[in-house]
Amino acid sequence: QFYFPYQHVLVLGLAKSGTAAAKFLKQNGKVVRVNDLNAEPDDATVQELEAFGIEVIVGSHPLEVLDDIDIVVKNPGIPYDNVIVREAEKRQVPIITEIELAGRLADGPLIGITGSNGKTTTTTLIYEMLANSNQKVKIAGNIGNVATDVALTLEEDETMVIELSSFQLVGVQTFKPKIAVFLNLFEAHLDYHKTLENYGHAKANVFSNQDASDFLVYNADDDSVIELTKRAKSIKIPFSSTAQNINGAWCDKEYLYFKQEKVVALSDIVLVGKHNLENILAAVSVAKLHGATNKGISEVLKTFTGVKHRLQFVKNVKQRMFYNDSKATNILATSKALSAFQQPIILLAGGLDRGNSFDALIPYLDHVKAMVVFGETATKLENAGRKAGIETIEFVDNVKQAVNKAYLLSNQQDVILLSPACASWDQYRTFEERGDMFIETVHTLK
Ligand code: ADP
Repeated sequence: QFYFPYQHVLVLGLAKSGTAAAKFLKQNGKVVRVNDLNAEPDDATVQELEAFGIEVIVGSHPLEVLDDIDIVVKNPGIPYDNVIVREAEKRQVPIITEIELAGRLADGPLIGITGSNGKTTTTTLIYEMLANSNQKVKIAGNIGNVATDVALTLEEDETMVIELSSFQLVGVQTFKPKIAVFLNLFEAHLDYHKTLENYGHAKANVFSNQDASDFLVYNADDDSVIELTKRAKSIKIPFSSTAQNINGAWCDKEYLYFKQEKVVALSDIVLVGKHNLENILAAVSVAKLHGATNKGISEVLKTFTGVKHRLQFVKNVKQRMFYNDSKATNILATSKALSAFQQPIILLAGGLDRGNSFDALIPYLDHVKAMVVFGETATKLENAGRKAGIETIEFVDNVKQAVNKAYLLSNQQDVILLSPACASWDQYRTFEERGDMFIETVHTLK
């Protein structure tokens, strides 16, 4: 049963989540109005919603869209200094996001994952571990469907695993996951939230409605997370890649444990990188708390090659290991990828020039034996490579050529890594397109 004591609803911002929310609310007898600055009157979605009996106002933000409105469902991407959002605050109209709707709608238990980094990976791992333990489970978020759509079909004995950005969490009233996960807190997204404090508080909404029967899985290695989660009322379960014998997930040199129990040998885990170990520790904690089996968990860890484009293992070609990290669009991400390996690396990098130098990458290039560079930043990357003492640096035109060139330069046991440290927009529409070209080319190698 859907309890939503508001009759007149303004959906602000279309996109996937706005469209899903507007339709669902209309179906439930609400009077729905949609306002979007960028949509055009003849967009397919606009026409579809109008045919549904929904009033759609596009191209501007007239304040009158708020007249008679009881609540605003805001797209997570719309900032709080938007004119309509400001006016709604002035008129004391509550503002929520689609996640709040999903929470009110879902009959089954919810698992919500937030943090600055690692959300998609951790969410996917949890989903896979539960599914592989024969549980009924659905996934929502970046890689799954919009939460409202998933919530609509969720059965009572079915779990929904949801990836939650801070933007979504700002608009939470009653959202209450059975298990919440707080991965880490970095100074990201600060232009939207203005201060790190606001940003942290938005993320804290993942557990703010939890009670003493719920669980909060948190990163015990992250001081900001520890500080923020102090006021949680739920049962707190730590995970740590450094501490041992804690009351959650941890590891020694050989095994990963949950509390006192051995779950999997580290040597069986396919995912690489310390950051991924943290994601795994978080995922194992949740899976164990939610009744997954050790077999179900360890099978996933033995086969999961990573979320696409995120330090994803693609293929072993004649003992050369190919990894696609196309999502790495800045130096920090690429430095993480480089740190994930001990063996010699051939690094494929380059892309949109944002004006920065790549000197910050130099300390991480010590085991890079060759670089293949492309795009606007090719020469800047070459400069960093030379300063790091790399002799073999080749220039190519695109990712396809880069793969072929790297293969020619490689020996057995080398890692061939696409981790561009740059956005893709000088040459590719998206980082996905760039990563797909990498994967495609790797599969043509003999
Ligand atoms: P998100 O969904 O939060 O953007 P992803 O799982 O898609 O996170 O990972 C994106 C990138 O973030 C990875 O390629 C890696 O560079 C970095 N990352 C992932 N997990 C972590 C972590 N636990 N700590 C720090 N950085 C991480």
